[in-house]
Amino acid sequence: MTLMRHIRRLSLVAVACFLQAGLNHDLAAQQEGRDWPFEAKVDQFLLHSDFELNDPQRLESILGGLRSDISQALNLPEQKSSIHVVLFSNAKEYSRYMNHYFPSIEPRRAIYLQDRGPGMLFTFWHDDIDTDLRHEAAHAVLNQSGVQLPLWLDEGVAEYFEVQRDKRFSQNGYGAEVAQRAAKGLVPSLLDLERIAEMSEFKDTHYRDSWAWIHFLLHRRQETRQLLIDYIARHRKLVPQANLSRQLAEIVADPTVEFQQHFSKVGSSQPTSVAAIKGTLSTAKSAATQTAVAPTSATQK
Ligand SMILES: [Zn+2]
Repeated sequence: MTLMRHIRRLSLVAVACFLQAGLNHDLAAQQEGRDWPFEAKVDQFLLHSDFELNDPQRLESILGGLRSDISQALNLPEQKSSIHVVLFSNAKEYSRYMNHYFPSIEPRRAIYLQDRGPGMLFTFWHDDIDTDLRHEAAHAVLNQSGVQLPLWLDEGVAEYFEVQRDKRFSQNGYGAEVAQRAAKGLVPSLLDLERIAEMSEFKDTHYRDSWAWIHFLLHRRQETRQLLIDYIARHRKLVPQANLSRQLAEIVADPTVEFQQHFSKVGSSQPTSVAAIKGTLSTAKSAATQTAVAPTSATQK
């Protein structure tokens, strides 16, 4: 886990370098023109691979529905532009390619690059390919929606969606640890997370804490979910607004206590599904009353 987070942090540094270079118009054209042994399309993700995948269905299981899951959970505008995913058979081939096209960027396990052209995600086949692809793809979807989110929120959302759909509510690897810490009164400060502006300051524990607050906002109750949606919408429209922690304090009397209550229930709950989230979102939009949403699949359905 530690290595993975470290790689991700560095990958964003790589994105910054790449943005300055501004080359990916050409690169995207090269991917489309090149004769790849394997190509496939999963939703808006265009996959190019230097090897024949034994199990093409696995890509569908990793990326299929991810964009709609994110868009519907966060009420993002529909995005039709493509995201290229370049997948290599092994680390050596991946490094060779990256060194050729991006000599100034040290290859990482997974890198998402975006400038004015199509977003591009580069990686190679490895044990955590499912998680890495979903995590970076989540960044890509957020990026393509035109929203530049605060660091903690961007990473928290990517962490939330990096696990497969039926495990997002109660089977994320952070859940038990967050619940144990919350039971001891160790509730992460959302304000402290909001103050982190540099990726170099974003530590492994900040990924966990960001995930926890995103989970809380999405599942605690309808008002918290709507607060997150509205906050992101205002960010996308560049409408000035207070920090989310401040807005949260206006609708939740004691966010720390509610955070503890929330995670005391998560461990004992059944996994929820995106369908359940969608249902709750629809309810939230039309709800005349602000009824609490218990974080269980049975209640949400
Ligand atoms: Zn990330």
